[in-house]
Amino acid sequence: MNKEGHVLNAVLLSIGLGFVFHPSADVPTLRAIAEMSVPVVLGALFPDVDTAFGKHRKTLHNLPVLAVFYAYPVFFDNLHFVWIGVATHYVLDMLGSKRGIALFYPYTQEYNLPVGVPVSSKWATGVTVAISALEVLLVAAVVHLELPVQDLSTTVTGLV
Ligand SMILES: [Zn+2]
Repeated sequence: MNKEGHVLNAVLLSIGLGFVFHPSADVPTLRAIAEMSVPVVLGALFPDVDTAFGKHRKTLHNLPVLAVFYAYPVFFDNLHFVWIGVATHYVLDMLGSKRGIALFYPYTQEYNLPVGVPVSSKWATGVTVAISALEVLLVAAVVHLELPVQDLSTTVTGLV
């Protein structure tokens, strides 16, 4: 997926998550969206840094990199929500293109999902919006089923 797709996905996801955590559509909802959108967009842009440093779709498109971003807030109380952007970047790359990503890099095998559309497809934006919606629904399900997840429920301002 291209940068436009990743930014669109990250923005939609942030808005959706704001409503998941604060469904009242008031100031706390806007605050949560503002709190999440910048780090999620930054996280969604980060993996493609490997177009300049390392091997594209390998060096920064893998689960160890995601683990670093996921653990960072735990150890340093910093970079909250960035991992969400990184994770959604991987999802979009596996569904919004015909090439996979090297999830277990330095093992270089690239993994892809059998469904998905090429970046150049006229459906690419539609698929991006649909994936964003599915991700929001997934998080909503996790939150409402009260499954244990790090970060989200503990760091969104004002949520108990
Ligand atoms: Zn990518």
